[in-house]
Amino acid sequence: MRYSRLFGKTVRDKPRNADSESHQLLLRGGFVRPASGGGFLLLPLGQRVMEKVQAIVAEEIAQCGGCVVGFPGGRQSANSDLCRSLRLRRREVGSDYAFAEHHEAALASLAGSLALSYRDLPLLVAGTRWANREEAHPNWGLLAAPECLFHSVYGFGAGDLATLECLSNIGNSYMRALQRMEVKVWAMRSLSHASTMEIATETQLAARPTLVCSHCGYAEAAELAESRVPEWPQQPNPGVTAAVHGPGLIQVGPLSQFLGIPVHQTTKTMLFEVRGQVIAACVAGIYGVSEAKLMRLFGGHRLSLAAPEVVKELTSSEVGYAGPVGLPPQVQVIWDLSTEHRTNFEAGANLTDHHSINLNFGRDLPRPDRFFDIRIARPGERCTKCEEGRLEARAAIVLGNLSTVGDLYAELLGAKFLDADKTTHPLPVNCSGLDLSALLAAVVEQHHDGRGIIWPDSVAPFAAQLVSLPLAEAAAESLYQRLRGAGVDVLWDDRTESAGVKFGDADLIGNPVRLVMSRRTGDKIEWKARVAEQGELVEVEEAVERLRLD
Ligand SMILES: [Zn+2]
Repeated sequence: MRYSRLFGKTVRDKPRNADSESHQLLLRGGFVRPASGGGFLLLPLGQRVMEKVQAIVAEEIAQCGGCVVGFPGGRQSANSDLCRSLRLRRREVGSDYAFAEHHEAALASLAGSLALSYRDLPLLVAGTRWANREEAHPNWGLLAAPECLFHSVYGFGAGDLATLECLSNIGNSYMRALQRMEVKVWAMRSLSHASTMEIATETQLAARPTLVCSHCGYAEAAELAESRVPEWPQQPNPGVTAAVHGPGLIQVGPLSQFLGIPVHQTTKTMLFEVRGQVIAACVAGIYGVSEAKLMRLFGGHRLSLAAPEVVKELTSSEVGYAGPVGLPPQVQVIWDLSTEHRTNFEAGANLTDHHSINLNFGRDLPRPDRFFDIRIARPGERCTKCEEGRLEARAAIVLGNLSTVGDLYAELLGAKFLDADKTTHPLPVNCSGLDLSALLAAVVEQHHDGRGIIWPDSVAPFAAQLVSLPLAEAAAESLYQRLRGAGVDVLWDDRTESAGVKFGDADLIGNPVRLVMSRRTGDKIEWKARVAEQGELVEVEEAVERLRLD
């Protein structure tokens, strides 16, 4: 392609309202432009990259047996939302047709009507569509645009195990696709859905807080990350228990100062309502309580902080003085692992302005049968997956997810299959998705330098950028035609700009190789890899051959 014919060019000025590096570089390189409603137009260069991203994902999914369908437009939604919406609609409409915004339902409904037998399974159906994102940050660019190109795969297996195996194959395919694009990702558990794994990429933006092990690479949303409990020194002899009067001290910092004990010897007791009952969650005072971990402990049921009036009634005190001793028996107390080895610890006294000190398991309250991990791990703590590593605070953006939906559709839409004995079974479904727009941006986040983007070969818009300088135009035209004839995608900067402008643009756009033809190069050509500091003079023949073989 001739640069002069390209719709949309590079931009010199630093773009405004572009908070992420990928957004700045994609705007400056002429890959995207803002469009209406906070969305983005993919310019020809951006579209070329997107087509390569799509092709790689499609190839890998085809490798594990996926067939491609065309989806209507829709909304990217979380599973819980999906179930709720399906149930609501079914109740309201009284029908079991499929809703366009939930393609899993459409496909499961179709699969249900196909009278599938175990011989037909597993089945994998994949497709790509533009979808609206629920949580958009237009200033982050394609990483979190209001609309994204979303790749989805739905798998149906003969039974739960087969469906899980099918999901694992899809996950491997996605990972191979990401490797081909040279994008490093973290596989993390989903914050909200126990049966979902997420594929996330690191970002410098204020995105999801994540803890990552410096040694083994273990990565998890901060709310779910596991850490080893520090070994705090403990007093061997039990002290005298007392309820100390400390008015207004509901923060652990001032409280520990007032009592003259380390913060980790204080106890945070928080009351939650879950499944119609109230539970008390107790963690060592330096930690926060992880609602995500608690939710998993209670089978994925949503929980909410107990209302102040409930807290006041159950603790007979103002909010902030709840403690594990003396709560009504119907309140189940869940103890965090950080409280297990403490002696002479503090806790709220269930009496306004009072704090119990020198509490000991086995004397002042029974030692719990089990301790659970319900705290929010802290950066700097030791990793549970390896011996050497410590957790570091980072941020992540989710690029994709892999979920099992189980028998939900069998229940809601009658999706079934027949086994070898002609017995009908619910047809389990899995759903996976990859946000291709965010993925494109993630490639840029991970592959750039101070001068511009450095596209990996697999997704570069062109294999090479040919730069012709004065008096070399005719030779460049001839080379351009030869490269095209050899099937090499080349972008020819045929403008009458200065060498400096053209070189700057070539770096900004980031094609893997820059070819320069000028009076100085004579009948040779300068070959410079985007990542190299210096170019080299090569024969034209050799340049064509290198590019042809790539
Ligand atoms: Zn580790």
